[in-house]
Amino acid sequence: MQTHNLGYPRIGSNRELKKACEQYWQRRIDGRQLEQTARAIRNNNWQLQKDAGIDLIPVNDFSFYDQVLDTCLMTGAIPERYHPLMERERLNDLDLFFAMARGYQQNGYDLTAMEMTKWFDTNYHYIVPEFRKDQKFSFFNQTVIHQFIEAKKAGYAAKPVLIGPVTFLLSGKEKEAGFHRIDLLKNLLPVYIEVLEKLDACGAFYVQLDEPCLALDLSREEQQALIIAYTTLQKRVPNIKIILTNYFDCFGKNLETALSLPVHTLHVDLVRCPSQLDDILATGFVNARTHLSLGIVDGRNIWKNNFQRSLTLIETAKQKIGADRIWLAPSCSLLHVPCDLDMETEEKNLTGEIKQWVAFAKQKLAEVAVLKQIATSPDKPNSKALLAENTRCIEARNTSSLIHNQQVKARVTAITASDAERKSSFPIRKEKQQELDLPLFATTTIGSFPQTKEIRNWRAQWKKQQLSDTDYNQLLQEATNKAIQWQETIGLDVLVHGEFERNDMVEYFGEQLAGFAFTQNGWVQSYGSRCVKPPVLYGDVCRPRPMTVGWSAYAQSLTGKPVKGMLTGPVTILQWSFVRDDQPRSVTCNQIALAIRDEVLDLEKAGIKIIQIDEPAIREGLPLRKEQQPEYLKWAVTAFRITSAGVQDKTQIHTHMCYSEFNDIIDHIAAMDADVITIETSRSQMELLDAFASFEYPNDIGPGVYDIHAPRVPSKEEMMGLMEKALTYIPAERLWVNPDCGLKTRGWEETSQALIAMVQAAKTLRKKI
Ligand code: GLN
Ligand code: ZN
Repeated sequence: MQTHNLGYPRIGSNRELKKACEQYWQRRIDGRQLEQTARAIRNNNWQLQKDAGIDLIPVNDFSFYDQVLDTCLMTGAIPERYHPLMERERLNDLDLFFAMARGYQQNGYDLTAMEMTKWFDTNYHYIVPEFRKDQKFSFFNQTVIHQFIEAKKAGYAAKPVLIGPVTFLLSGKEKEAGFHRIDLLKNLLPVYIEVLEKLDACGAFYVQLDEPCLALDLSREEQQALIIAYTTLQKRVPNIKIILTNYFDCFGKNLETALSLPVHTLHVDLVRCPSQLDDILATGFVNARTHLSLGIVDGRNIWKNNFQRSLTLIETAKQKIGADRIWLAPSCSLLHVPCDLDMETEEKNLTGEIKQWVAFAKQKLAEVAVLKQIATSPDKPNSKALLAENTRCIEARNTSSLIHNQQVKARVTAITASDAERKSSFPIRKEKQQELDLPLFATTTIGSFPQTKEIRNWRAQWKKQQLSDTDYNQLLQEATNKAIQWQETIGLDVLVHGEFERNDMVEYFGEQLAGFAFTQNGWVQSYGSRCVKPPVLYGDVCRPRPMTVGWSAYAQSLTGKPVKGMLTGPVTILQWSFVRDDQPRSVTCNQIALAIRDEVLDLEKAGIKIIQIDEPAIREGLPLRKEQQPEYLKWAVTAFRITSAGVQDKTQIHTHMCYSEFNDIIDHIAAMDADVITIETSRSQMELLDAFASFEYPNDIGPGVYDIHAPRVPSKEEMMGLMEKALTYIPAERLWVNPDCGLKTRGWEETSQALIAMVQAAKTLRKKI
């Protein structure tokens, strides 16, 4: 029985990579210094995995920004607009890579970044590969080889990790008509062959190829593509032993395809799908020689593994195929969990009792190793003690009084259909909302303004009690005041208070709700250098007191223009937390929905006329398999409606979503029945509006007119162009004008330039029409 790991968090346990990248972008360190930090993180991770008892260590799971973008570079899939950067500007691969990720605005160039979207059902964002009909591929960037050599030289049992060719193609987008990206496989395969050959020549034995597309509903052609790909790779590079991984869901209807692939090891996610083990272990597999990698420790959540349960699964597999053909691993890459629980030292965060229910990346690897030990040497005294200790922790959690609140449970049970119905339909509400007296193409922002260093410093000092509550609030009030005045000056129509008091849109609410615990250092990569610190939702949720009313009321008191109340929706709070796994997600979501509903009603009472309930994560919560989607959508949409339905007709409810494909769920987005929805569209050039137009989406829409994820400032003309394009989809009286998302990660300089231009664009268009 071997242990291996699919991937380790690369941000560094103190977010070293984030800090170094940002310094590099600001030209405060050079490429050599950035590379030094990266090397230290890689070496540290390898050592730590080895120390934890992992037999095979992943390499090339490291990335400066995103592993899909790495794959674009590896295969030479570099969109044409960046070619002058290589040819004329002679940018090195690293700078080219960052230009593709973040856009490039210097030396007379004005190149937009590549599109980003969510990786399967995670909150990790990847860069979307762009493909053309005559797409050429070549083995362009050789980082995978260098990193393998680096690890091998340092003495590690290194296993290079690559995104598989089929998942890579499927994760991209066709940039012209007349072909399907899967048709490109024959052009792409030679690159993978070359990579494997080179790895073979350098002494690699195993290579892990990730094909999580196996967790999707694949067409016959796509299944066929997998067969062609792996038969070819096996034939052309027979020395390399391929570990084919699937995760985030079971194989479903792809099982037969998966089992027929000529690979050395097949990895399955037994956390999401323990029941598929029996299907896999049918006769065909038993008689074959393929190894089975059991993804047994949850790579997506932070709860301690239940050893008893895992050992039962391991035992089932062992009975059928014997210990030699079994590998043990986390269910997926550990990219999606924080690095190290040992760094949680502050009692007020993850308190003693809760901490013993939890495992982070490093601890999860130890669990994998311990499971191997217990499964292979159950009689060792140590094995017995480890199992007993685990059983004690699992029991302690099951019976803890911290978790259960009867009142909350009763209120959820008492929810009725009318709790999710607004008083009138949208046309009637729209009429009553004319009171708000907004112009055509009303301009607004998504909520947050730049979280400057200064503001983060105040918060840090306040948390360390170096700044009193009064002083901290005073400073935040000043920032809010300034933001309101500035928004009035530049002529925005619907203002926001700026969210200066918030560290994060989920953490801020979690901190004020009962049932959540926090980490000091539980960072997880969200996109590029951006990390989030998801709360730990461990118990029944309720709202002891109002959470945002003070700030919204204060901001509204400063201006005659409407200020939007700003809340995070129940599905997003659920989705972006580490959620309890001891009750259905839908029940937890309804508990949150009721708490937010109370907040909405309190805001209305305090005179707030527009309330935005952000649900950027509604799409990402969608199960990967179609057959499970209707049920999810039903409870998710209902939860949103529960939060918003209590208000008067004249109170305008907004929602906001980013990075979403809406095509397949547009009817459910419409069923949320927000008066206004703002969405992220600028990177896709308004393409996303197609879904809204074809569905004849009835309510107001604010498609983002500029990309806030990169510092690039769009011109007024560019934004007018996008708005005019939007007008071909949406009638003028239902079109809003806003950026793609909140501005908290931006600086004031680019923010003010962009927003001034945005307001001017709206004004010019009003005159034109
Ligand atoms: N209101 C939030 C903000 O502006 C929304 C962020 C998001 O959609 N991710 O920051
Ligand atoms: Zn957003």
